[in-house]
Amino acid sequence: MKKRIAALLLLLSLIILPLTACKGDTAPKEKSKIYYLYFDTVCTVTDYSGLSEEDFSTLCTLIEDELMRYHRLFDIYNSYSGVTNICDINAAGGESVAVSDELIDFLLYAKEIYTLTGGEVNIALGTVLALWHDEREAASLNPEGARLPDAEKLETLSHHTDIDKLLIDKAGGTVRLLDPNMRLDVGALGKGYAAKKIIELLEERGYTSVLLNLGGNVSAVGTKWGGAPFVAGVRNPAPQSSLDRYVATLDIIDASLSTSGDYERFYTVGGVDYHHIIDKDTLMPSDTGFRSVTVLGPDPAVTDALSTALFCLSFDEGRELLSSISDYEAFWIFDDGSTDKTDGFVTK
Ligand code: ADP
Ligand code: MG
Repeated sequence: MKKRIAALLLLLSLIILPLTACKGDTAPKEKSKIYYLYFDTVCTVTDYSGLSEEDFSTLCTLIEDELMRYHRLFDIYNSYSGVTNICDINAAGGESVAVSDELIDFLLYAKEIYTLTGGEVNIALGTVLALWHDEREAASLNPEGARLPDAEKLETLSHHTDIDKLLIDKAGGTVRLLDPNMRLDVGALGKGYAAKKIIELLEERGYTSVLLNLGGNVSAVGTKWGGAPFVAGVRNPAPQSSLDRYVATLDIIDASLSTSGDYERFYTVGGVDYHHIIDKDTLMPSDTGFRSVTVLGPDPAVTDALSTALFCLSFDEGRELLSSISDYEAFWIFDDGSTDKTDGFVTK
């Protein structure tokens, strides 16, 4: 766990570039806070507007309260008193469960994403994802004994991944898994959705210069000092030195950037790395020839969802999906290190 946190911390430190240009004499010093307890990753908030210690502390508390709330809501492993979460829905054995409007809205959104991505991002893949997760965890304790999930077992579980069996009764405030053997896993969508809600809250409260990073989903609220853009980087999956940490950098204002990559969570079996994004058709880690896909756009919920989807789709299919919606752009890093991007992904 400590090793994972250290690796994620490194990831975060790499993805947000240090403040360099545009720092005038009067530019206030940025203040940052790091959170380790949410979404099994590292989250950071940085204010660039020169908040006082007291005001920055208020901002951090506001953000931490929300991180904790969404972490609990989306947790598939633990129940919490006072909230009905995804774990509770999974544990209900096919019975109806009363949940908050917020969770209903999120699950409706997850269904929209399923449709938008042609089923590539499917929160009902929980049983299949759990099998991969368990083997990955076992391998982290015993790398010598690392093995792939049993193919037959995967196939059997795949019969319990039909998202239409997730019944959502918005008016009644309940959800139900019509297939009691189905399980939800919202790992592909939760952080981005939380980021979207937190950003809305920050805007509502009048914050104008904040950078939020939820495990690689980077969101800019407003601008840096004097209207300067934030600078974000597309991480190099195979850096040779500290000089090539990024494959590309770009300016962002009121926008978000999400990356899905094969180097974030993986384990090795027989010398081959198996990452954590699973193709719905093969039930194996997607094998589309990318190291990573980064998506840029106005809504972090959508950039998070699309980065996972594009990682599963071929380059052409990914471009086609992007051209069917406006305002979202992408940057691909291929296995051989070459890159490609959509026109609107403007790098520096
Ligand atoms: P990360 O969460 O590591 O930033 P992603 O946003 O791409 O990366 O989401 C990966 C997570 O989503 C996995 O850990 C797993 O929980 C879940 N997942 C993997 N494959 C799929 C899929 N095809 N559909 C829905 N969820 C998936
Ligand atoms: Mg995602």
